[in-house]
Amino acid sequence: MTLPPTVAAHVPTGILIDGAWRPAGSGRTFSVNDPGTTESLFDVADGGSEDALDALTAASDAFPQWRATAPRVRSELLRAVFETITARTEDIAALVTAEGGKPLAESRAEVAYGADYIRWYAEQAVRFEGLARRAPSGANHQLVLRRAVGPALLITPWNFPIAMIARKVAPALAAGCSVVIKPAQLTPLTTAYVAEIIRAELADRGLPTGVINVVPSASARSISGPLLSDPRLRKLSFTGSTEVGSALLKASADTVLRTSMELGGNAPFLVFEDADIDAAVTGAVQAKMRNAGQTCVAANRFLVHASVAEEFTAALTVAFDKLVVGHGADEGTTVGPLIEQAAVDRVDEVVSEAVDGGARVRTGAERPDRPGYFYAPTVLDRVSPDLRVITEETFGPVAPVVTFGSEEEAVALANSTPFGLVAYAYTRDIARVLRLAESVDTGMLGVNRGLVSDASAPFGGVKSSGLGREGGEAGMEEYLESVYVAI
Ligand code: NAD
Repeated sequence: MTLPPTVAAHVPTGILIDGAWRPAGSGRTFSVNDPGTTESLFDVADGGSEDALDALTAASDAFPQWRATAPRVRSELLRAVFETITARTEDIAALVTAEGGKPLAESRAEVAYGADYIRWYAEQAVRFEGLARRAPSGANHQLVLRRAVGPALLITPWNFPIAMIARKVAPALAAGCSVVIKPAQLTPLTTAYVAEIIRAELADRGLPTGVINVVPSASARSISGPLLSDPRLRKLSFTGSTEVGSALLKASADTVLRTSMELGGNAPFLVFEDADIDAAVTGAVQAKMRNAGQTCVAANRFLVHASVAEEFTAALTVAFDKLVVGHGADEGTTVGPLIEQAAVDRVDEVVSEAVDGGARVRTGAERPDRPGYFYAPTVLDRVSPDLRVITEETFGPVAPVVTFGSEEEAVALANSTPFGLVAYAYTRDIARVLRLAESVDTGMLGVNRGLVSDASAPFGGVKSSGLGREGGEAGMEEYLESVYVAI
């Protein structure tokens, strides 16, 4: 797609270290492509170990001054960044669509969602609280202060190019941490654009520009390897796959690094016999089809009571057939491309395996004949729960339907996965809602709604879906440590 000139001329393609954009030390670049056409958009500096260590030096040097900055100053900086991002919504949304593929309406929503984290943490920056009390023995007083943990490495995935970095960088800066950002190789442009907004605000206010550093790279390990073994780094916040998260946890052990992990999901979408089926279908489309199914909170498995399964599946099929697959920038598109060819191949493979295993195709299960990495919105029923389309995170526009006969069976199916990020449930029975909140092993539960994310709420998973939370008060805790003073 052709980017508006207002944004095309202002996308930084270098490495940001201590307030200046520069080429990679190696001189190498890598290409960032439009997944809706496969065409190259920009060549971006391919950072390596030396660049990463320079970035950490800048973050480490800036940290003492930044930590000592008045909370109000950090708050006002973030508020200004929120205002600028909001004012430039159209430009940033165009960039999100160009590199990530999602329809423009979704990109605008992502800009608003990402900006909301920055606003929320601008508000929280002046609100972190400690504790003062008398020890139970009466022997002394206890003072507990909250202090920024230190320079943080932030590693993000490609599926939300602004939101994923906003919900890390905003609480980090609010808490008083400096950061080194390693954006996803497939979508580094939006991060660079937003980082430039923050850099400019820091510079204009005479604040230390080494607070934010960005090292794009085609070789993530060459960034994470040297940084995770460097004692100057005090925090890692990672969003991405469970496989990589687990490897990074191991690599963080030697320096006993504080870590937060937002990892993969396998969300069950439960439709009970007392559900409002129209509402469930609307919620199912939302929970499944955002970013063509490429979200960690995407409904991965539709678990439907046998008595309403046909009604739900037929209505979901009609709804999927109304979706318009196309380039994210085209008027009317509601489903964009997948991120790369390998993603299409994987989705196709998992669907074919399901069909070979006895699943019935209600719609889709094909690759549209057009350039770009597209896959048709697909509904499958009569799906056996042991197939990969159920047991693995599909990350594509595929809705497999499995039936259940009782609430106990539904909960057992929902929990039959190592993942535990989010579940969705449609029911009119409040007692059942409370039982599900106790028995479904996920960090989040959407009740009669297909969207749960909110900047003011603790987002995160249990089991293999992660450690820690982003958003809300909890999100800032991840960047703070307690100092206990006995007086
Ligand atoms: P990924 O794990 O492949 O990559 C994520 C990031 O890690 C990228 O920046 C990548 O370059 C980097 N990376 C890859 N290998 C690395 C290594 N060895 N060392 C250091 N960094 C490395 O994930 P992805 O494909 O970009 O994203 C999709 C995954 O992210 C899905 O599993 C999805 O569920 C998950 N996700 C989770 C959340 C959440 O909040 N829980 C949000 C979005 C995405």
